[in-house]
Amino acid sequence: GAAPAEPAACPPAGHEGLETIAPPDVPLLTGRRVRYANFDYAASAPCSRAAAEAVAEILPRYTAVHRGAGWLSQECTRSYEEARAEVAAFAGCRPGDHVVFTRHTTESLTLLAGALPPGTRVVAFESEHHANLLPWPELIRLPAPDSPAQAVRSVAAALRVLADDDAPVLVAVTGASNVTGELFPVADVVRIAHRHGARVVVDAAQLAPHRRIDLAGWGADYVAFSGHKLYAPFGTGVLAGRADWLDAAPPHLPGGGAGYSVGDITGEVTWRTGPARHEGGSPNVVGAVALAAVCRALRTASWSDLETREEALRSRMAQGLSRIPGVRQLHLFGPDSPRVGTVAFTVDGLPAGLVAAALSAEYGIGVRDGLFCAHPLTRRLVTRSRDFTGPTRHADGSVSHDRQAIRASVGLGSD
Ligand code: PLP
Repeated sequence: GAAPAEPAACPPAGHEGLETIAPPDVPLLTGRRVRYANFDYAASAPCSRAAAEAVAEILPRYTAVHRGAGWLSQECTRSYEEARAEVAAFAGCRPGDHVVFTRHTTESLTLLAGALPPGTRVVAFESEHHANLLPWPELIRLPAPDSPAQAVRSVAAALRVLADDDAPVLVAVTGASNVTGELFPVADVVRIAHRHGARVVVDAAQLAPHRRIDLAGWGADYVAFSGHKLYAPFGTGVLAGRADWLDAAPPHLPGGGAGYSVGDITGEVTWRTGPARHEGGSPNVVGAVALAAVCRALRTASWSDLETREEALRSRMAQGLSRIPGVRQLHLFGPDSPRVGTVAFTVDGLPAGLVAAALSAEYGIGVRDGLFCAHPLTRRLVTRSRDFTGPTRHADGSVSHDRQAIRASVGLGSD
């Protein structure tokens, strides 16, 4: 058929600050060098120009935040709090919501887990990233849903059962699957949860770089995300949302800055309220400022342009993969369900680690292999894809219908 159109620049014009630094040339097994093709953004995206410039600006002048009367300290405190306000606007916070800086999504969700009122039950799908499974005490795991509608029905059914009990309930749901990229119906889950008096935290680690996150618009109670997936450096994450549980919780990092006053003899401590309660220790002003710079660039970006561009790239990838014999793309909901630009696939008969190593050594293509910190989901999807016995279309136009034919076509014997 016709050669696919050459993709437009990435990011599209008018999205200043979101450009990333060109990747290096890397050696292949043959000794030839090629421009590295980094397809590992779902793990960590490269630093954007906006973040790099913000870091370069603050590096020569950073000092302690919230700890000094000197001019520089005041300036850094101002930069840190301005960063918080920028992140709040990016996350769609309501007046009164807290924005707590953490190291990453894992820490944000762990912080929230430590802030749950006693006896809180947490409801989550087993398809979640481990960061949104392992921190929760009293977790009720729902089976991975087969469709967005089923996800909502399944949450509703669980909440109906839990309604017999007076304990608080938190629904923990991802905005987009880190394995398949499929979007979860966040606003619908919030609607159902609130109808049952439950709260919702959205794990937006994977969503934030691709779609507008909107705490107020969704009506969600909390959102968590990581700077390093959002074209900012490692070491800065965010937990944003309702103040009451956070202000009543034991401090996440008890230490300097978290205590309002510490008694001499009794040792009695009065903890601060607000984000400082959970941000004990000297704050990472460099990371906060870098993350805020990306949030600013994304806040003025056209999300619809970014989505259109991303979808063009994703469908080009999906179409290309679908022409390779034995390659199966993994879906939780199905190939047509709305998704971000993350693609997961298996190659019949070949271990994922070998495919990833060959892509790197022979082609200079960087991908991630393994179970993607979502073991229950990835195992389920891989098993389902192995059971698949439908037709596969080959490059020469022929179609084979079974696993043995596919193994033969990629040069493997029968299994
Ligand atoms: N949640 C999702 C959906 C993710 O994709 C990830 C990272 O892959 C995380 C949570 C954890 O993020 P971090 O490693 O930055 O804590």
